[in-house]
Amino acid sequence: MSSNFHPFVLPFTIGTLALFSVLILKYNKWIGKFDRQQKKLIRRNLFTGKLIPAVWEMINEGLFHKKVSRYNRRLGYMHRSIALGWFLLISVGFVETVFHFQGRGHAPWIGVFFRFFVRDNQTLSAWIFAQIMDLLLLYILSGVTMAVFKSIFSKTVGMRKTTRLKLFDTSLRYSLWSIFPLRLLSESATAALADNGGFLTQSLGNLMGERFAGVVELPLWTLYSIALGLFLCLLPFSRFSHIFTELMLIYFRKMGLREREKPTGFTRFELSACSRCGICIDNCPLDSELNITDIQPVYLIRDIRNRMPHRTATENCLMCNRCESDCPVGIQISEIRRQERDKKKLDTHDNYGYIEDVQSFNAIGRVIYFGGCMSHLTPGITESMKKIFDTVGQKYWMMDEERTICCGRPLLQQGFFNQAAELRRKNTQLIMESRSKTLVTSCPICYQSFRKEYNLPIKVVHHTEYIATMLRLGKLRLNRSELRLAYHDPCELGRGCGIYDEPREVLSALGQLLKLEQEYKNSLCCGYNLGNTVLELDQQLKVRDASLRNLTDAHPDFIATACPLCKKAFQHSTTQPIKDVAELVVENLR
Ligand code: SF4
Ligand code: SF4
Ligand code: SF4
Repeated sequence: MSSNFHPFVLPFTIGTLALFSVLILKYNKWIGKFDRQQKKLIRRNLFTGKLIPAVWEMINEGLFHKKVSRYNRRLGYMHRSIALGWFLLISVGFVETVFHFQGRGHAPWIGVFFRFFVRDNQTLSAWIFAQIMDLLLLYILSGVTMAVFKSIFSKTVGMRKTTRLKLFDTSLRYSLWSIFPLRLLSESATAALADNGGFLTQSLGNLMGERFAGVVELPLWTLYSIALGLFLCLLPFSRFSHIFTELMLIYFRKMGLREREKPTGFTRFELSACSRCGICIDNCPLDSELNITDIQPVYLIRDIRNRMPHRTATENCLMCNRCESDCPVGIQISEIRRQERDKKKLDTHDNYGYIEDVQSFNAIGRVIYFGGCMSHLTPGITESMKKIFDTVGQKYWMMDEERTICCGRPLLQQGFFNQAAELRRKNTQLIMESRSKTLVTSCPICYQSFRKEYNLPIKVVHHTEYIATMLRLGKLRLNRSELRLAYHDPCELGRGCGIYDEPREVLSALGQLLKLEQEYKNSLCCGYNLGNTVLELDQQLKVRDASLRNLTDAHPDFIATACPLCKKAFQHSTTQPIKDVAELVVENLR
């Protein structure tokens, strides 16, 4: 066939034009909704060295799916074979077309339907290209087969559950899956007639026979083009928009863009970058312990995106961040959930008028110690910290000793943004007026708040970091024994702030630290997180018990944690004593 055109290419061509037109319009609209600071960051960083690491990450995540592979190798293979395989199929097809036409003009769709339009090509290079293209097609088909299995038996790819999809997404998924078998059949039919296939298509073509191939060839190419066109047309409105949006998101992140208190255009990019891989379902304690199956990020994001009601999904979450740390796209899920919890404008004056009376203190030469509301419920922790300060000869000002002003994070997590801002304003004033250079906190919730939400120009440390530093400086000396210790990583300290090593460093100086099945970033939430006010007590206890089992399975003498709320959650529920790291240190001072 000498012509460069056949009507069957129209669905594909229209689909491609529609895809890029809609994506450009959408992205343009979302970028227009970035706030001033986000736009400033883009202007400042658009053509800087940040582009190179961004492109590197795009290749690693968009094509190789490295993070998914780290989480689950089989799932990684499935995603990689489809994404990388398809990308290579398009690229090699383009090279083959350019090579064949040697600078002579050709229509842009030729690369996609090459075997149909270029039939009389019996050169060695054509044979090599045909083998490579068949190999790539086989690679993609292996991934598609896994995807089909995953949709029925999720455990075949090592997933506990698969994502439940709506009709639109399910139909589009079938459209995607059908593209590659249709390409195989179309090329095989042409190979039977033109003898231009590779090891796969030629064998299948020979099986078809010339007569049958002559009848089905055109209908098959037409179906292939329709499947492609349909998929490309609907892609921007479906979960598959993540294919392009994730690349944009990676670049924006490299330029320093992050979620804000209120949703912006950047939030639209994050929502659209979710691939609905379902990884966030697998380790959610509400799913595994309570069988609550409709609140996980994959469903919340879907409902926000489709403007469907999502109040329950928004509120019923522990904000333990397990899902966020597993998410291969790195979507700031908890920030988005918090935006959705916005309780809008509520008067703050009546509630917090009393804070104006709290006086500042001249703390030059002292550290500020902020125990936090939760530590007041577990006074053993604050008493231990005072003893530690005295032992190392550190003067301190306990900022919340008498009139406690909360750090504001629990309110923030519940969506009371104005009230939280009011508390932050007053605490910031007290801290700045004290003229201290260091703030030590005992509660990881306060720690995260002071570190990330306050923008303080002084050093903020958790007490485990402080104690570890004192040990290294030789200012604290401990008695080491044969005690077997199990450490519970608090969500806010570990996943929230990345503090994993310092508590372990201190505990290793006291006894034998046991290895747990779920620890570090995989630690299980204690169930008492202030981020959830929806769960009943018996539900919280079920989550707690799962977390506790993980700790007691190793038969420790003591369970240690570094969060007053975790301590409260575990207390009285096991025969093993529960202690904060600071308490264990004081009990074993030399
Ligand atoms: S939120 Fe992340 S982990 Fe969950 S489905 Fe989306 S991409 Fe996957
Ligand atoms: S933050 Fe925790 S409770 Fe909430 S959805 Fe994620 S894993 Fe589940
Ligand atoms: S209390 Fe501790 S473990 Fe429980 S949710 Fe909070 S930080 Fe996580």
